[in-house]
Amino acid sequence: MSAILGATHPAGPAGPAGAASGMDGALVPIVALDDVSRIYPNGETVVRALDRVSLAILPGEFVAIMGQSGSGKSTLMNIVGCLDRASSGTYRVAGVDVAELDADALAALRCSTFGFVFQRYNLLPALTAAENVEIPAVYAGTPKAERAERARMLLARLGLQARVDHTPGQLSGGQQQRVSIARALMNAAPVILADEPTGALDSRSGEDVLALLGELNAEGHTVILITHDPDVAAHAHRIVRFQDGRIVEDERRRPEAGRPALPAHRPAGPAGMMRFLPDLAEAVRMAFASMHANIFRTALTLLGIVIGVASVITMLAVGDGGKRSVLERISQIGTNLLVVRPGAPGIRSSGDNATLLPEDAEALRSLPGIAAVAPERSGRYTLRYGSKDYFTQVTGASADYLEARDWPLASGVMFSAADVRSYAPVIVLGQTVAHNLFGAEDPVGRYVLVKNVPYEVLGVLASKGANAFGQDQDDVALVPLSTGFMRLYGRRFLNSVTVKVADSGDIPAVEAAMRRLIADRHQAEDFQIRNTAQFLETAIETQNTLTLVLGCVAAISLLVAGIGVMNIMLVGVTERTREIGIRMATGARMSNIMLQFNTEALVVCGVGGAVGVVLGIGAALGLEALGVNIALSLAPALLAFACAFLTGLVFGYLPARKAARLDPVVALSYE
Ligand code: ADP
Ligand code: MG
Repeated sequence: MSAILGATHPAGPAGPAGAASGMDGALVPIVALDDVSRIYPNGETVVRALDRVSLAILPGEFVAIMGQSGSGKSTLMNIVGCLDRASSGTYRVAGVDVAELDADALAALRCSTFGFVFQRYNLLPALTAAENVEIPAVYAGTPKAERAERARMLLARLGLQARVDHTPGQLSGGQQQRVSIARALMNAAPVILADEPTGALDSRSGEDVLALLGELNAEGHTVILITHDPDVAAHAHRIVRFQDGRIVEDERRRPEAGRPALPAHRPAGPAGMMRFLPDLAEAVRMAFASMHANIFRTALTLLGIVIGVASVITMLAVGDGGKRSVLERISQIGTNLLVVRPGAPGIRSSGDNATLLPEDAEALRSLPGIAAVAPERSGRYTLRYGSKDYFTQVTGASADYLEARDWPLASGVMFSAADVRSYAPVIVLGQTVAHNLFGAEDPVGRYVLVKNVPYEVLGVLASKGANAFGQDQDDVALVPLSTGFMRLYGRRFLNSVTVKVADSGDIPAVEAAMRRLIADRHQAEDFQIRNTAQFLETAIETQNTLTLVLGCVAAISLLVAGIGVMNIMLVGVTERTREIGIRMATGARMSNIMLQFNTEALVVCGVGGAVGVVLGIGAALGLEALGVNIALSLAPALLAFACAFLTGLVFGYLPARKAARLDPVVALSYE
């Protein structure tokens, strides 16, 4: 066969225009390089991998690109396949100058026009043969059912019907190469680019693959075969020889083979949002697949998120629970109370101040807006009933003491104002005292001895439980204040006067009036007035601070978990650089890669968040079972889950961007 160097398609400056108006006139070259150079910087100098190459390939040709290693064959293939751009010169695909296309348009062109077959197959190891074949159709937007059927059809045609669900690791080299050819055919790409497709195969499998490429060419595919092996090149109809980045020979072994181009398989995919949803569904599916492929690492990453979310929920539940129980206890005391204590403000009262007198309490009753005034004095004494002794706090009180404190009776009655006036030896017992002295017996009507004087039990108080400081409020006995002064306490002064204000809106006014009144009587500020609303505020503030601290600790653990996710994702991107390159070569746009990695981070964080919510609620309930006060509410759970999700979004972004910005050529050759 004679060499027809540049006979019909001059490789010289005439370029694609000459080719298009060549013998066939109407035929536009599918691939047309005009004066294309590709220059790599190499230290101070540069490497001219392609040096002013002009080459036109018509639809339907079977061209072998030959040359020694380093002659620029792969560089040419990358430019032809739109994985790389020329440093200078123009490259047209079916008449379209690729320099005018942006990255996404280029990806779309790659996806619809070129099918790549690589020396080392470049299948994704985690996917089955069928799934590998489907990838280009995924990025072309072909519906799932359609592409699955086409993948099976193609694999069957290449004699792999029994291997459809095998992973690349379970296939021989020849089988893998046939899978990669099926992948190249998935979008019915009119041009097949094969870079040393037989390089890694034994001669039998190599022959099979070459025969297959020949068949595809006979069906109308343009085949561009790159090889250094003359026997392989002999299968082609045209051999272009390269040396040092230049074409040195263009030999046509058969007459002109130009045919109308195969129409590219362009599925009329849905547009806009409808296009995005299947992409997303696919990305989620791939995310789960890749999580599954790295199950141990995924579990560890998940653990960080799970602990973060769970601790946020548990901590907030404990904090809120503490707050709620404090609030409950305080509201039991009542929020419209003012308490007068002896002792100047700022000086801690020792309780022995003898400045607050029963007469002060009586004077307070005359003020407007007051519902009840309850002076009191306490001391600790032993109560005796039969042979039982019980040491408790005996409080001298007025008849309206229970009203002021909103404290109902469980049985019997409270002593009356008359009892107070008459120094009656009567007593009302708290639950704890009644229980300790009488057990199951009814104390009402019985007598207890205090300092050897018998007191008739008039009633038993309802249980009040522990106060805000954890003290048992039921461990008390009440006697008339007058009786107490006479028989128990000695000198007549009060420990405190509790004033119940009729309308809690009047508290500031009543407090001011009380202050004036007592100061007037004492001619000194030797007392303090506190209101429970202030106390409540302080308690809420304290609890809020506690909740905030707990929440912050938990949030920090979530942040740490997020950084863990990012770290793992970045490692993942590096590890999967080759996969990213393969996906790009098979038509993935930057946005597809971005979406995929973002989705993976989101899926990890979402799953971790969900598990964390369940675990956090479980832990909170467990603590409740152990007696800790908790308050579970929806908001922290939603918040923590949202935070986990946000963590995925934020910390997945950087790795995803890194992945999407990879240069396909670099990614593909990454080891
Ligand atoms: P072939 O595929 O024919 O073996 P290549 O196209 O891979 O040759 O390489 C052509 C020339 O370009 C070689 O000299 C190679 O060293 C150089 N080259 C290829 N890729 C790069 C790169 N990314 N950076 C620098 N030089 C490169
Ligand atoms: Mg090469």
